[in-house]
Amino acid sequence: MKIIYSDLHRKRQAKTELYGGELRPPFECPERMDYILAEIDKRKFGEILPPKEFGIDPVLAVHDKAYIEFLERAWSDWKALGYAGEAVPNVWPARRMRSDIVPEHFDARLGYYALAGETSLSEGTWEAAVASKDVALTALAAVMDGERAAFGLCRPPGHHAAMDQFGGYCFFNNAAVVAQQARDQGIERVAILDVDFHHGNGTQQIFYDRADVQFHSIHGDPQHAFPHFLGFAEEKGEGAGEGHNFNYPLPPGTGFAEWRAALSSALDEINRYKPGLLIVSLGVDTFEKDPISFFKLTSGDFVTIGQDIAGLEMPTLFLMEGGYAVEDVGVNTINTVSGFWSSH
Ligand SMILES: [Zn+2]
Repeated sequence: MKIIYSDLHRKRQAKTELYGGELRPPFECPERMDYILAEIDKRKFGEILPPKEFGIDPVLAVHDKAYIEFLERAWSDWKALGYAGEAVPNVWPARRMRSDIVPEHFDARLGYYALAGETSLSEGTWEAAVASKDVALTALAAVMDGERAAFGLCRPPGHHAAMDQFGGYCFFNNAAVVAQQARDQGIERVAILDVDFHHGNGTQQIFYDRADVQFHSIHGDPQHAFPHFLGFAEEKGEGAGEGHNFNYPLPPGTGFAEWRAALSSALDEINRYKPGLLIVSLGVDTFEKDPISFFKLTSGDFVTIGQDIAGLEMPTLFLMEGGYAVEDVGVNTINTVSGFWSSH
């Protein structure tokens, strides 16, 4: 399997995450990639290739232009205000207030474009996000060129990023960028299967009113899990997209049997849809030891997930999302893609 990777992810090395009332080192850290690379090396799995550069147009196809411009300038705008720390939002256009005005002050724009407060903007975030979408787009190009599957080792992840919002460690929605690119290159229907522990709120939002990109997300019930305000079962799409959004929220303590039943439902539905491309938002924070999640999957279960997905026999693009039990992220990630690869 071709695996696309860029060292530029290291530019995203934020120092702070707002968690439990404290600023702590982010759970989403560069070491996650080191463990994945070590596992690839150990098993001699796949072939690691660098990304090509695709420019910003594929990002503009799914994200708001002003949002992109905000992100590009964010670090220099923030530094110009003379603050000592990293850019952490602390004010939002919340309920009972107006969201039709983008204020001029950077503090306010930071909140306007943020969906939550845990993710700080830091030096190098823009460069890493640009490289991450290039990793995803290069992996897509491999599949478009006839590879059965490819794996974009994206960091930062993408599935929480909405049309004009960052958060949950995500800035550009890599899966959405790639899905749109595939559509623009002539693939009629694209399915996105999000197996990260958290709901893929950004991906859902971007394609919610469309029938040409079908979205499935298996995740922690938003009553109990981030991002809390989206991801309920009754969200089924709207307009042309009615019936093309599928959420499978699962309760705290969910083990693999229940999780796999949800996967089976999603795979059946994707099989009926007959997409020309399957994109897998691959998070491994469903793991039993994940520090910020509450499912009980074991390392061996990830092999089965890969095998089950391979059963669809579709061109498949894996994109890395979350997974924060850092020392186990490599094993669990490569278990998934190698499980797929060995049974395709
Ligand atoms: Zn996650």
